Amino acid sequence: MNTVTRPRILVVGAGFAGVECVRRLERKLSPDEADVTLVTPFAYQLYLPLLPQVASGVLTPQSIAVSLRRSKKYRTRIIPGGAIGVDLKSKVCVIRTITDQIVNEPYDYIVLAPGSITRTFDIPGLTDHAFGMKTLAEAAYIRDHVISQLDLADASQDPDERASRLQFVVVGGGYAGTETAACLQRLTHAAVKRYPRLDPGLIKWHLIDIAPKLMPELGDKLGSSAQEILRRRGIEISLGTSIAKAGPEEVTFTDGRVIPTRTLIWTAGVVASPLIATLGAETVKGRLAVAPEMNLPGNDGVFALGDSAAVPDLAKGDDGAMCPPTAQHALRQGKHVADNVIAALRGQSMQRYVHKDLGLVVDLGGTDAVSKPLGIELRGLPAQAVARGYHWSALRTNVAKTRVMTNWLLNAVAGDDFVRTGFQTRKAARLKDFEYTDAYLTPEQVREHIEGTGRQA
Ligand SMILES: Cc1cc2nc3c(=O)[nH]c(=O)nc-3n(C[C@H](O)[C@H](O)[C@H](O)COP(=O)(O)OP(=O)(O)OC[C@H]3O[C@@H](n4cnc5c(N)ncnc54)[C@H](O)[C@@H]3O)c2cc1C
Repeated sequence: MNTVTRPRILVVGAGFAGVECVRRLERKLSPDEADVTLVTPFAYQLYLPLLPQVASGVLTPQSIAVSLRRSKKYRTRIIPGGAIGVDLKSKVCVIRTITDQIVNEPYDYIVLAPGSITRTFDIPGLTDHAFGMKTLAEAAYIRDHVISQLDLADASQDPDERASRLQFVVVGGGYAGTETAACLQRLTHAAVKRYPRLDPGLIKWHLIDIAPKLMPELGDKLGSSAQEILRRRGIEISLGTSIAKAGPEEVTFTDGRVIPTRTLIWTAGVVASPLIATLGAETVKGRLAVAPEMNLPGNDGVFALGDSAAVPDLAKGDDGAMCPPTAQHALRQGKHVADNVIAALRGQSMQRYVHKDLGLVVDLGGTDAVSKPLGIELRGLPAQAVARGYHWSALRTNVAKTRVMTNWLLNAVAGDDFVRTGFQTRKAARLKDFEYTDAYLTPEQVREHIEGTGRQA
């Protein structure tokens, strides 16, 4: 069979869902059965749950960036770029490559796994002054930024400037925000010992959330334990509170408090990638509405999964629940969708996705953690062992496992040197610059582009 007649499978996004899917397709399909192509802006799969540990310097950025080209068995063609639109009618995906070229990629089967972006609201100043915690660059940037606040506060003679540089605000009491606040507080707490001229009492971390509880999925008892750990460490938790306004040197809370700060970290949830809106198809809260088989009804060969898709959560019954946006679901859906693509290709029947949640692990740094594996409530060291064991075993390659384990051991023994690299100091640091949210076309622009360029690239 020559290349032209082989079905073309295009996978968009190399995250938990996309990479699992591609690896399974490579394993289960013979090279003659289909051509597999992956579109991804980066040459790695990012292990997002460990991002707070990169921000706090426990892990190096490389250790959670798992290579897509580790083995010769990985025969998928990789297009370095991002999909900026999909035309379902002509079955073409429009891609902006990393050199800013716009190319058309026709497909027979498309698997959409572009994940999510940080959810923002119409709060004055928010997108200009907040940092997110969704990309490797953001985690590395925040680390440098936090250390630079200590450096600048140390050098300043102005007590007001010192005070504002030593206050930090994290918005979002889900696991991402809670882990971020906890891990970064440990960073500043340890680092300040190297600044004898700074008063440690001036360092203050705020964790705020509009909800009445932190991480409600933990349940009341475990949630209170997490809050207790954070409060003991001096993190001020404000619930039922959000941001009214953000500026370069202060943040106003909805309860009227004005906090002088140069650091606002925004982790208040995620929304599906803007790529989904370019399809002009039905969505549920921005996620593509798919069937339990993860295909798009009425559109042959279109599949979506992970954070970008509203996959019915059949383990919770038939009451319209959607799978939550977690890595746990994304990687299982990746395998499952690969099987369904293969079934569709071979004219077999597809299977519905069902997975019962295994629980939650929350690493608060050091020996502090809370976990709820299979409903069992754990705290302290056992919880930490489960949290780290879970993440460690979920890393895809042995090299990544070795890097992470070595980093953990090294950090436990030698600590952190709190080095500020300065690599990105003068770069723009807004949410859209890190997450490229302004790169996408509208559904009309996609159609105009396809009609203007013809179907083929
Ligand atoms: C700080 C943090 C902590 C977390 N902790 C946990 C946890 O403890 N447990 C848990 O289960 N989940 C956790 N999550 C959630 C989990 O990481 C996500 O649910 C999971 O990554 C979703 O997988 P995905 O494949 O859908 O998306 P992702 O893993 O985000 O992958 C999407 C991929 O698509 C790429 N992409 C984006 N747009 C495009 C485009 N237009 N074209 C091509 N490629 C594109 C991205 O670069 C990325 O590589 C955490 C998330 C964060 C941010």
